[in-house]
Amino acid sequence: MGNGKKRFETRVIHDGYDAQQHFGALAPPLYQTSTFTFSSAEQGEARFAGEEEGNIYSRLGNPTVRILEEKMTSLENGKAALAFGSGMAAVSAVLLHLVKTGDHIICSRGVYGCTFGLLEILDEKFHISHNFVDMSTEEGIRHAITNDTACIYVESPINPTMELIDLALVTRVAKEYAIPVVVDNTFCTPYLQQPLTLGANYIVHSATKYIGGHGDVVGGLIVGDSQEQIKLISMSTQKDIGGIMSPFDAWLLNRGLKTLAIRMDRHCLNAEKIASYLRDQSLIKNIYFPGLKDHPSHPIAASQMKNYGGMISFEMNGTKETAQAFMNELKLIKIAVSLGDAETLIQHPASMTHAIVPKKVKEQMGISDTLLRLSVGLEAWEDVCEDIDQALKKIDTMAVF
Ligand SMILES: *Cc1c(COP(=O)(O)O)cnc(C)c1O
Repeated sequence: MGNGKKRFETRVIHDGYDAQQHFGALAPPLYQTSTFTFSSAEQGEARFAGEEEGNIYSRLGNPTVRILEEKMTSLENGKAALAFGSGMAAVSAVLLHLVKTGDHIICSRGVYGCTFGLLEILDEKFHISHNFVDMSTEEGIRHAITNDTACIYVESPINPTMELIDLALVTRVAKEYAIPVVVDNTFCTPYLQQPLTLGANYIVHSATKYIGGHGDVVGGLIVGDSQEQIKLISMSTQKDIGGIMSPFDAWLLNRGLKTLAIRMDRHCLNAEKIASYLRDQSLIKNIYFPGLKDHPSHPIAASQMKNYGGMISFEMNGTKETAQAFMNELKLIKIAVSLGDAETLIQHPASMTHAIVPKKVKEQMGISDTLLRLSVGLEAWEDVCEDIDQALKKIDTMAVF
């Protein structure tokens, strides 16, 4: 049995950490220090020259952060990883690494709201253009590629409509043109989807979400398929722009990650139950959840993901006011952006996560005024359904639609 590489559920607990290098401590220690002392001037010189491995200064690397980076490298089947102070710091670092003035970025039809904001900055200040492309066909992808295309940036599932992208198809076409592919794997985590294995070159994560899993950290990660490229990012964009992760946040993430596999199983189970409950409600229409057999992306989900994830979006019958009134009637479910926490969260993308996106682009992205996004938590799913049920009943009697 086995080829020496342990299963995911084991690696998520053990990889990246060797207790014997840390006084035998079972839990990875917190190295809450800004700098590291050298035993001699010559040692300092050798470390700066890169001739001797070792710590220098926490913006250039920290042992607690490195444990997280090594664990994530293993889980994503990558070659190296870097941790950042937020998901957006990771997204901006990888894009700044890959593009220069005059270049062009191809994006999936929808992207996270602040990624959209970053693309606008790159366009306006640095003349780096982008367009949002339907990647469902090979022709569509080929058609979008120009001589200036320096990178393909993809979310799958696309937030918040849960449309999936066939990652193997995108990376196969990109390889013909030697264009690097970046995948935002925040919604899936490496437990459900491993884009590097499907040919992508970089993964970015908002570690704030499922990686942390407890709603107490903001953090980000890049995992790459090339040690050299990751080294270049660490020695340039990360070191000189400086959006690093703090040791304490890495410590919390190392702790949160240990339960990733069992948490994801429960998120997925709860989401399936809640999606099928929502389907029977007359005030709710158009449920976007890849686990539903009639979701257009269901076949891709079945082939590319281990399970369907914990995120559900749906539209309500009525108006924006109906959707907001419904949110206000919820008791157990909290109104908040972010996702992947133990608590079930609901948000209104058109006025919250995607408020910055112009109305016309929102329509193209499928973000209507009655669309709500639910991040299914770890509670008993029956209690979550009961909360939705009592809120729907109140809306019904108020006749706000
Ligand atoms: C939250 C999120 C981000 C940004 O991450 P932060 O940690 O908030 O900076 C990027 N992509 C996706 C898909 C996200 O959900």
